[in-house]
Amino acid sequence: MPQLDFRSCTLEELSAYLAGLGEPAYRARQLFGWLQSGATDFDEMRNLPNPLRARLREDGYLAAAVVEKRLTSRLDDTVKYLFRLHDGAFVESVLMHYHHGRTLCISTQVGCNMGCSFCASTLTGKARDLTASEMLAQIFASQADSGHRVDGVVLMGMGEPLDNFDQTVRFLQLVSHEQGLHIGLRHISLSTCGIVPGIEKLATYRFPITLSVSLHAPDDALRSRLMPVNRRWGIEPLLAACRHYQEATGRRISFEYAMIRDVNDSDAHARALAARVRPFLSHVNLIPANPVVERDFVRSDRKRLEAFAGRLTSLGVNVTVRRTLGADIEASCGQLRRSAEAERGKPDANLQ
Ligand code: SAH
Repeated sequence: MPQLDFRSCTLEELSAYLAGLGEPAYRARQLFGWLQSGATDFDEMRNLPNPLRARLREDGYLAAAVVEKRLTSRLDDTVKYLFRLHDGAFVESVLMHYHHGRTLCISTQVGCNMGCSFCASTLTGKARDLTASEMLAQIFASQADSGHRVDGVVLMGMGEPLDNFDQTVRFLQLVSHEQGLHIGLRHISLSTCGIVPGIEKLATYRFPITLSVSLHAPDDALRSRLMPVNRRWGIEPLLAACRHYQEATGRRISFEYAMIRDVNDSDAHARALAARVRPFLSHVNLIPANPVVERDFVRSDRKRLEAFAGRLTSLGVNVTVRRTLGADIEASCGQLRRSAEAERGKPDANLQ
């Protein structure tokens, strides 16, 4: 069984590996270029000699994501992909079209262990972490399938990126590499449920990415009920880590707030939220909560959403209401994988 995950390797790691094989230095740049342009077979690497290609095939593999299912929204051209990985695991990505280009929302884990009460990705826990190469593979596969270049990435699909810290950092380094996809870090957002040590550690890398923090509640009692992670790190330490992150990177923080009817959407909640985030260079992104079949919550209605946004604005908070893209294609994370796994459980499953 080949062992080396070539697409997760940095240029330096490839250089060391190829030097060990007695190859000249320029081979590492050639190999890195192929890997980071999405090659799916060693035989595509035409400027590498045959014996070297054979050796690569013996020593390692090329992580790939195969389109298992593709749903295109009739409302706004959003495309939701269900990808199959080498071990049969499924992950989801969503390709969104904006005026300024295309953004792909990628997954960082198969499932999730964080247990947020409104989220479909976490219903059966985490199956495994993704490698950096599998995060990249989602981009290559969606580009090849759609014929469009991906200009920006959001780590907001399935999984908690800071619970898969090392592979996530490796992904950020590879995806922004000038001899690779070269997607600017300023065009990348990382969303976290609030793993405080992970935020502190990420700050030390000083990546100019946008940190999105899933807040969803302005007080600890409610947040701990919605998001178990809050029982470990409450709102105070979380906001302190956000402040450090902002000081280290100079980037404004984005707070995500899913609006759930009669749970976190009252005027009192809006006032409490404003008090929490006002000291920050930040903005609040209100998301009408997506219904999840297995959970019994309801999204706030338009009127409540507008009143909430209006209150935040009047208190000096930068607020946006997220467009719900792909509302007709189960675009909220985790739902497609769950239905595919349920299908696979049936004897006559046929997803093609
Ligand atoms: N684990 C990371 C990133 C993945 S979830 C995080 O928690 O931030 C991406 C975003 O979708 C998070 O803000 C998450 O709280 C939100 N989300 C999850 N389920 C949702 C739902 N049913 N409706 C609206 N937003 C949801």
